[in-house]
Amino acid sequence: MKEEKCIRCGKCCYYFKYNLLHKCRFLKLLGNNKTECEIYDMRLDKPVGVGEDFKPIICVGRDVSKNDYPGCPLNSGKPLLYTEEQWQNQKSV
Ligand code: SF4
Ligand code: SF4
Repeated sequence: MKEEKCIRCGKCCYYFKYNLLHKCRFLKLLGNNKTECEIYDMRLDKPVGVGEDFKPIICVGRDVSKNDYPGCPLNSGKPLLYTEEQWQNQKSV
Protein backbone atom coordinates (compact mmCIF):
# COMPACT_ATOMS: atom_id res chain seq x y z
CA MET A 1 0.00 0.00 0.00
CA LYS A 2 1.27 3.44 -0.99
CA GLU A 3 0.75 5.17 2.40
CA GLU A 4 3.33 2.80 3.91
CA LYS A 5 5.96 4.83 2.04
CA CYS A 6 5.05 7.99 4.00
CA ILE A 7 8.03 9.20 6.01
CA ARG A 8 5.78 11.44 8.17
CA CYS A 9 7.62 14.64 7.32
CA GLY A 10 4.34 16.60 7.52
CA LYS A 11 5.05 18.62 4.39
CA CYS A 12 1.59 17.91 2.97
CA CYS A 13 0.08 19.45 6.11
CA TYR A 14 1.22 23.03 5.41
CA TYR A 15 -0.55 25.63 3.29
CA PHE A 16 0.54 28.94 1.78
CA LYS A 17 -0.76 32.24 3.14
CA TYR A 18 0.91 35.67 2.86
CA ASN A 19 4.10 34.07 1.49
CA LEU A 20 4.44 31.83 4.51
CA LEU A 21 3.86 28.11 4.83
CA HIS A 22 1.42 27.67 7.68
CA LYS A 23 1.26 24.46 9.64
CA CYS A 24 -2.09 22.78 10.05
CA ARG A 25 -3.27 23.30 13.62
CA PHE A 26 -3.63 19.53 14.05
CA LEU A 27 -0.06 18.66 13.02
CA LYS A 28 2.12 17.68 15.96
CA LEU A 29 5.90 18.03 15.56
CA LEU A 30 7.59 15.05 17.20
CA GLY A 31 11.23 15.97 16.55
CA ASN A 32 13.68 14.12 14.27
CA ASN A 33 11.68 15.59 11.36
CA LYS A 34 8.72 13.35 12.21
CA THR A 35 5.15 14.51 12.62
CA GLU A 36 1.80 13.13 13.63
CA CYS A 37 -1.77 14.14 12.86
CA GLU A 38 -3.68 14.60 16.10
CA ILE A 39 -7.01 13.77 14.46
CA TYR A 40 -5.87 11.19 11.89
CA ASP A 41 -9.00 9.02 11.98
CA MET A 42 -11.30 12.05 11.63
CA ARG A 43 -9.09 14.25 9.44
CA LEU A 44 -10.77 13.97 6.04
CA ASP A 45 -12.88 16.99 5.02
CA LYS A 46 -11.98 18.85 8.24
CA PRO A 47 -11.31 22.61 7.90
CA VAL A 48 -7.70 23.05 9.00
CA GLY A 49 -7.10 26.73 8.27
CA VAL A 50 -8.23 29.77 6.31
CA GLY A 51 -6.63 30.84 3.03
CA GLU A 52 -5.85 34.34 1.81
CA ASP A 53 -9.20 34.40 0.04
CA PHE A 54 -10.98 33.53 3.33
CA LYS A 55 -11.94 30.15 1.93
CA PRO A 56 -11.38 27.25 4.33
CA ILE A 57 -8.43 24.93 3.74
CA ILE A 58 -9.80 21.41 3.88
CA CYS A 59 -7.84 18.25 4.74
CA VAL A 60 -7.97 15.74 1.89
CA GLY A 61 -6.42 12.33 1.43
CA ARG A 62 -2.87 12.38 0.11
CA ASP A 63 -3.94 10.46 -2.99
CA VAL A 64 -6.41 13.17 -4.02
CA SER A 65 -4.15 16.13 -3.21
CA LYS A 66 -3.63 18.36 -6.26
CA ASN A 67 0.05 18.82 -5.44
CA ASP A 68 3.34 17.09 -4.80
CA TYR A 69 5.67 18.04 -1.93
CA PRO A 70 9.49 18.22 -1.79
CA GLY A 71 10.98 14.78 -1.10
CA CYS A 72 7.65 13.00 -0.60
CA PRO A 73 7.85 9.33 -1.68
CA LEU A 74 4.18 9.49 -2.67
CA ASN A 75 4.73 12.16 -5.33
CA SER A 76 3.13 11.37 -8.67
CA GLY A 77 4.24 14.10 -11.06
CA LYS A 78 1.80 16.82 -9.94
CA PRO A 79 3.02 20.43 -9.49
CA LEU A 80 4.97 21.03 -6.27
CA LEU A 81 3.02 23.25 -3.85
CA TYR A 82 6.38 24.74 -2.82
CA THR A 83 10.07 24.06 -3.28
CA GLU A 84 12.52 22.63 -0.76
CA GLU A 85 14.07 26.12 -0.53
CA GLN A 86 10.69 27.65 0.33
CA TRP A 87 10.20 24.89 2.89
CA GLN A 88 13.48 25.79 4.55
CA ASN A 89 12.89 29.55 4.48
CA GLN A 90 9.16 30.21 4.61
CA LYS A 91 7.65 27.77 7.07
CA SER A 92 6.02 29.02 10.22
CA VAL A 93 6.82 27.40 13.55
S1 SF4 B 1 4.56 14.90 2.36
FE1 SF4 B 1 4.56 12.75 1.87
S2 SF4 B 1 6.02 11.79 3.24
FE2 SF4 B 1 5.51 13.81 4.07
S3 SF4 B 1 3.79 13.42 5.51
FE3 SF4 B 1 2.91 13.95 3.53
S4 SF4 B 1 2.55 11.97 2.51
FE4 SF4 B 1 3.98 11.61 4.18
S1 SF4 C 1 -5.77 17.34 9.71
FE1 SF4 C 1 -4.95 16.86 7.68
S2 SF4 C 1 -3.59 18.57 7.20
FE2 SF4 C 1 -3.97 18.60 9.41
S3 SF4 C 1 -2.29 17.43 10.33
FE3 SF4 C 1 -4.01 16.04 9.99
S4 SF4 C 1 -3.58 15.10 7.98
FE4 SF4 C 1 -2.33 16.98 8.14
